[in-house]
Amino acid sequence: MPVAGGRVQPFTDRWVTAIMRFSSRTERIGGDGARAWEIHYRAVERRRQGDDVILLSIGDPDFNTPPAIVDSAIAGLRSGNTHYNDVVGDPDLRQAIARQHAALTGLDTGPEHVAVFSGAQNALFAAAMCLLDEGDEVIAPEPMYVTYEAFLGASGARLVRVPSPRANAFHFDPAAIQAAVNGNTRAILLNTPNNPTGAVLTRGELEAVAAICRAHDLWLISDEVYASLTFEADHVSPCGLPGMAERTITVSSLSKSHAMTGWRVGWTVSPPELVGHFINLATCMLYGGPGFIHDGAVTALTRDLPEVLAMKAEILARRDLVCGMLANLPGLECLRPDAGMFVMVDVRASGLSAHDYASRLLDEQAVSVLPADAFGPSALGHLRLGLCTSRAVLEEACARIANFAKAIQSRHTA
Ligand code: PMP
Repeated sequence: MPVAGGRVQPFTDRWVTAIMRFSSRTERIGGDGARAWEIHYRAVERRRQGDDVILLSIGDPDFNTPPAIVDSAIAGLRSGNTHYNDVVGDPDLRQAIARQHAALTGLDTGPEHVAVFSGAQNALFAAAMCLLDEGDEVIAPEPMYVTYEAFLGASGARLVRVPSPRANAFHFDPAAIQAAVNGNTRAILLNTPNNPTGAVLTRGELEAVAAICRAHDLWLISDEVYASLTFEADHVSPCGLPGMAERTITVSSLSKSHAMTGWRVGWTVSPPELVGHFINLATCMLYGGPGFIHDGAVTALTRDLPEVLAMKAEILARRDLVCGMLANLPGLECLRPDAGMFVMVDVRASGLSAHDYASRLLDEQAVSVLPADAFGPSALGHLRLGLCTSRAVLEEACARIANFAKAIQSRHTA
C-alpha cells in the first residue's frame, strides 16, 4: 500500500494520483506560447473534420527532401549502417559541417569542433546543459523562437529579454543588451536570420554584441538555422568575428536548408573543450544518431543539389506573392522579410488584437495564422504567416485574408 502524509492510501487503477511528484524542472519547460498554438490546433481539428482550412501557422515547408539525400540514406540502411554510431556524429558528417563552417567564417575548423545532435533544438538544449547553471542569466532579443525560454529554463538559467522594436525593423539596440548585463549574466543568445521576423543582424550589430561578450567574458549562442534563406541581406556568422571563436557556439541544422525537418540532423560548432563535454552529455542522452541518417546528411552537405537553390527561389517567389497581394489592404500592413520562411503582418490599424484577428480569420475565412506576440511583446499586434504551402494555396489564402480585412473595415465604418 502506498503511504502519503502518514495515511495509508488504497491503490487505485487510475494513471493520475495526487501522490507522485515531478521535478521542479517540469514547471520550467512548459513555456507560455500555448495560447498562440490554440488557434493552430483548432484549425488542424477543423481540417480533420473535412473543412477547407488553409494552415499558414506552421513552419515546416511542403518540399520533399532532395532524392539524392534520400538515396544515400537508403543505401546506408541497405549496406548495414544500422549500428551504434559515434556519439557526437559520423566523422564524415562532422568533417562536412566543419568545411561549411570554415567557408562561412574563414576560421580553420575541423571535426573536433563539431558535435551532431538530433536537430538544432536538441543542440540548443545540449548547449544550455553544458554552459549554464541555476541562477545564471542569458540575454536574448525578442521576438524569439518559442522554445528558447523552455530550453534555457531546463538548465535552471533565467531568460532576460531585450526588445527588438518594430519601429527599428525588429532589430535590437546593442546598448539594451549592454544595459541588461550583470554579475549573473553568462551568455547572449542570438537568432539570425530571425524567426519570426526575418530580420538579419548586420555585421555592425554583431560586432557590438561581440564586444559585450568579450568585455564581460560571456558565451555567445548563435542560432543560424535560417542562414541559407537570406534574400536581400547577407548572413554574417558571429563566430568569425575577432576574438569570438573561443566563446561562440554556432547552432544550425539541415531542417530548413534541405527540407529535412523530420530527419533531425542539427549540430554545434564550438571550442573542442566544449565538444568533450558534449561527448559526455551525448553518451548519457542520445548515444549517437542513426548512421544511415548521417549518410543522407553527408550527401546534403557535400553535393551541389539543384533542388536546394530551387527551394530558396520558390520561398522568395512565395514571399513576393504574399507581400504583393496583401499590400494596400485596409487595417493591415505586410512587412517584406529579408530572410526566412515567414511574413509578419501588422494588424494594429484594424483595432483588433493579433489573437482576436487570427481567431476571427479562422472562424470567418478558414485561414490559420499565428499571433506573433507569442514570440515576444515587440511583435504585439502582428501575425506570422508561413510560406510553407504552394503559391496556389497562398494565393487563395491571401484572397481570403483580403475579404476578411475588407469585411472588418466595412463593419467599422458601419
Ligand atoms: N531555431 C529556430 C529559430 C527555429 O525556427 C527552429 C525550428 N523551427 C529551430 C531552432 C529548431 O530546428 P530543428 O528542426 O533543426 O531542430
